[in-house]
Amino acid sequence: MRLFFALPLPDEALDALEAAGRSFIAADINMADARAAAAFGRARWSPRANLHLTLAFLGEYDEAGLAAALAAGEEAFGHGAPARVSGLALKLEGWGAFPRLGAATILWAGLGRSPELLAITSRLRAALERAGLRYDRSPFKPHLTLARFSRPADLRGLPSDAVPGVGFRVRDAILYRSVLGGGPPRYEEMGAWRL
Ligand code: ATP
Ligand code: MG
Repeated sequence: MRLFFALPLPDEALDALEAAGRSFIAADINMADARAAAAFGRARWSPRANLHLTLAFLGEYDEAGLAAALAAGEEAFGHGAPARVSGLALKLEGWGAFPRLGAATILWAGLGRSPELLAITSRLRAALERAGLRYDRSPFKPHLTLARFSRPADLRGLPSDAVPGVGFRVRDAILYRSVLGGGPPRYEEMGAWRL
């Protein structure tokens, strides 16, 4: 099974991200400059239920791997982890594209700087290391994937303020299993911890 740790988003963040999607599409349609025009005609938007913040992508594991990942989640987020009264405070901030704006395969919304987010991610990744679990070790670039393009799209010239600076709180960290198929993936919760 394909595993990853992520933070699910509350409704106020999901609403803001959906509004951002509508702004992008409206701007794209209105652009006199044909450069980015129709870029979104072939975008695959993340369904609302799939929007999340990935903390660590583990990839393919068997049942024993799942058990070890659950133990690592417990170590990072369970008893002994720093207690918070009301979750982790985050804020939407800006947007960008991977690998680059002029030839984007992923359009993402960004987050304001959060030392706490970096701390919980380090804590999780350290627990994965200790358990000997492999995961994608690329530097953590917190982002929320809004849309994907199978052919690189030129997104230059889209409005810089499309993503509203909405603050929100995340209550839980989740270990998801991702089931890939024809359309959008289905994410199933395998474990959850209160932040
Ligand atoms: P799809 O692959 O169908 O486009 P998806 O990327 O959302 O959908 P997964 O590939 O299972 O589904 O990925 C789950 C999460 O892990 C997503 O947030 C994705 O961006 C992230 N992810 C996937 N592969 C990697 C990777 N190699 N390194 C880091 N993060 C990854
Ligand atoms: Mg993927």
